[in-house]
Amino acid sequence: MNDQIPVKNVTPVKVHKPKSAEQGKRRSARSRIYVRAVQGPLETFRRFFGLFFIVLFAGIPWIQYDGHQAILLDIVNQRFTIFHLTLWPQDLTVLAYIFIVSAFALFFVTTFAGRVWCGFMCPQTTWVYMYNLVEEKIEGPRNKRMKLDGRPMDADKFIRKFLKHSIWIIIATLTALSFVGYFTPIGSLFVDFFTFNTSFWATFSVLFFAGCTYGNAGYMREIMCTHICPYARFQSAMFDKDTFTVSYDAKRGESRGPRPRKLSHEQVKEKGLGDCIDCNLCVQVCPTGIDIRNGLQYECINCGACVDACNGVMDKMSYPKGLISFTSEERLEGGTTHIVRPKLVGYFVVLLVMMGLLIANIATRVPLEVDIIRDRNSLYRETNTGDIENVYTIKVLNKSQSTNTYVITVSGLADHSFIGDSVVTVEGGNLSTTPISVATSPDNLEDSVTDIAFTVTTTTENGEVITVSESTKFLYK
Ligand code: SF4
Ligand code: SF4
Repeated sequence: MNDQIPVKNVTPVKVHKPKSAEQGKRRSARSRIYVRAVQGPLETFRRFFGLFFIVLFAGIPWIQYDGHQAILLDIVNQRFTIFHLTLWPQDLTVLAYIFIVSAFALFFVTTFAGRVWCGFMCPQTTWVYMYNLVEEKIEGPRNKRMKLDGRPMDADKFIRKFLKHSIWIIIATLTALSFVGYFTPIGSLFVDFFTFNTSFWATFSVLFFAGCTYGNAGYMREIMCTHICPYARFQSAMFDKDTFTVSYDAKRGESRGPRPRKLSHEQVKEKGLGDCIDCNLCVQVCPTGIDIRNGLQYECINCGACVDACNGVMDKMSYPKGLISFTSEERLEGGTTHIVRPKLVGYFVVLLVMMGLLIANIATRVPLEVDIIRDRNSLYRETNTGDIENVYTIKVLNKSQSTNTYVITVSGLADHSFIGDSVVTVEGGNLSTTPISVATSPDNLEDSVTDIAFTVTTTTENGEVITVSESTKFLYK
């Protein structure tokens, strides 16, 4: 019986050359990484989480709410619809709060558990994983893929490559259609795209994002994570000694090296060997091609593939699991991880405050905006009857999703007359512009400038009365 675990050293063709601890060098030029498939609880979790994320991403634009697309970020008309909420450029504060909340959520999670966003939730990781899966199904496992790429083109290779790229292109196109469907009605987008009736910009957007998906997930892969994504660069600013990251327990693992499988754990220790059998599996499964045994590296996306791979090896060797694990530097040094610590608490408190402000902002948001613009051509004019008249333009923006009727009144001016529409009906998400003249006798004006206010009132579908007042000046002399 073979007394070593059945792992072959396969480096015959142009494969990535993992760094060894002894070399301590980075690769100077990129060589392709052939990721070995791995099995384990973290991998299963990522698989289901990725599937959930993909279904969510592709499904959200198809959700209908109250007769319209529930989430539609209509950039052309500068209108973002999120269920019953319609956001306009004037609602930038809401968008700013959403970004701030997202940023602090990311800071908090990164401080607590390192780059788990990258390893489990980032679209780049999810799509690369999907592309890898297609590649593996068509071209076979890692060793087969390396051999396939190393041999000259033949019919079998051509068919496999053709099939793989065709499926990649289909995935990229569907991804781009789903993505563009967040910005334009998705139902008609799909129909128009497949009947060649989309506008130039819609076609351009779909092809552009399809190209990005195909390029990123098919070719760029780990380069995006290690060289382009800025998050990889500044994440270390959030790390501390208590952050959970994927780490190799060098004290336990070294000195590494192969050994007969029949040796017990104690016998191995007596020989001065650590628990690492130097099988290189942790490197072969790493999507960014690093050797975690070299210590914390910015390329590590905390995906845990090496944890699963190494735990599998430890199982086979009947060693305790956890030679590579999600742990903190503090714990590796023999201390205790501090979960509650000032930095983490600080991020959490700011996150809660920002979420509170976001909720308050949305809850107190008035679905009506009024803007008064004075006529700039003349300060005032005298009518035939001797009254003083000022001209205004009233803009009423209906920020709700239903058609509403608005009543416009003026206050602050005694015995005035009002020329123009005092009642306007505005469709949901539309703007009405109404010219209005206000006139009064000069006897009613004590000053050359009188403060007045326009009040716009409406009753919504559910009986709620909304009133917005805007101040302006009435000028004379
Ligand atoms: S998988 Fe585990 S045992 Fe194998 S080389 Fe990596 S750390 Fe060592
Ligand atoms: S070192 Fe491990 S956790 Fe980090 S990217 Fe590679 S496989 Fe994932």
